[in-house]
Amino acid sequence: MKIAVPKEIIPGEQRVALTPNVIGKLAKSGFEVVIETGAGAESGHPDADYQAAGAAIAASVQELYKDAQVILKVRPPAPHPVSKKHEIELYPEGAVLICFLEILRNPEIATLLAKHKVTAFSMDTVPRISRAQSMDALSSQASAAGYKAVLIAAEASHKFFPMLTTAAGTIPPAKVFVIGAGVAGLQAIATAKRLGATVEGFDIRPAAKGEVESLGAKFVQVDLGEATESGGGYAKEVSEEARKKEHEVVHQHVAAADIVITTAAVPGKKAPLLVTSDMVKAMKPGSIVVDMAVEQGGNVEGSKPGETVQVNGVKVMGPLNLPSKMSIHTSMMYAKNITTLLALLVKDKQMQIDFEDEIVKGSCITHNGEIIHEQTKKLLN
Ligand code: NAD
Repeated sequence: MKIAVPKEIIPGEQRVALTPNVIGKLAKSGFEVVIETGAGAESGHPDADYQAAGAAIAASVQELYKDAQVILKVRPPAPHPVSKKHEIELYPEGAVLICFLEILRNPEIATLLAKHKVTAFSMDTVPRISRAQSMDALSSQASAAGYKAVLIAAEASHKFFPMLTTAAGTIPPAKVFVIGAGVAGLQAIATAKRLGATVEGFDIRPAAKGEVESLGAKFVQVDLGEATESGGGYAKEVSEEARKKEHEVVHQHVAAADIVITTAAVPGKKAPLLVTSDMVKAMKPGSIVVDMAVEQGGNVEGSKPGETVQVNGVKVMGPLNLPSKMSIHTSMMYAKNITTLLALLVKDKQMQIDFEDEIVKGSCITHNGEIIHEQTKKLLN
């Protein structure tokens, strides 16, 4: 069975779907792995490392996809800059594709996948159940993003994070306020704590309290007077009235913070606007805001994707694709996640997909020329 791993084509994407350390295990499971030349170059893995691990290198996409049964990618397929065709049109009919299809934001891609009879699995719809933890690429990548967001804030800030007692005086610790305490937010809290800051965390899900406190940070609690959690531990979109209550509390904590990191998201929806321009204006000059939700519409009013905006001396940063900026480790983590999901689909060195399995059901989007994922079907109707 041939696995093809292309070079990612979305501009700025530095990750790769497989790293050399997983090639040996795949070979033992009966796979022949072919990597497009240069696919790992931006994540620290030259072609030679893959060859040493037992993979073959393809010089062109035609060679890469010829007879491929499995295609492993990071980002969704897109129009190919060299062949001028859509990547999906390059895949052999009946091939299995596994990648982040970003299907909730991009359900239309399912139609093209079905048309080309690709059996596609989306890493972003793998159910967040205990058995799927080692396949949970949303978590591995979000965790890296949370870490990096704190580092870029620390780099942009002109303040120390830890308290310093020096002959030149005592420097108080920086105050960091993290909004949204999911996977990215908790890693941001942990990283800011490790750097010595005083950290507060906030989330509308009451379950986040214990997690924030277990990291040694203070939890900011708001009673919104309505249910804030949907199934699977995710947040719900809250009413306008609840949003107003939330804004009142968030305002005070934003104003007092040196660094604000926002990570709030609701699956399949635009990110909630939580930090208004007035709140940013209430911050001290020199403060930093990092809007990690900028690609989903933004948690911070006025933040711009890929840019840093100055508001009254406050830098509002909208970094894009933070996991890609950690590409050595995020590719390794992703390779582990994707190969674990692949192992679930293979029995006796053959593809054997059990559509009764909860993980398969949750992540398989198209099969046999049909869209089979219920949520995707609903989004398309
Ligand atoms: P996410 O990226 O969808 O959202 C990030 C955070 O934003 C969430 O904590 C959410 O509650 C919060 N949020 C949404 N709207 C908000 C608002 N108006 N104000 C403040 N915060 C808001 O979430 P995620 O990080 O992918 O994880 C969500 C949940 O899934 C968490 O409970 C996490 O522990 C759980 N999870 C479970 C597993 C597992 O059991 N295997 C794995 C991963 C995540």
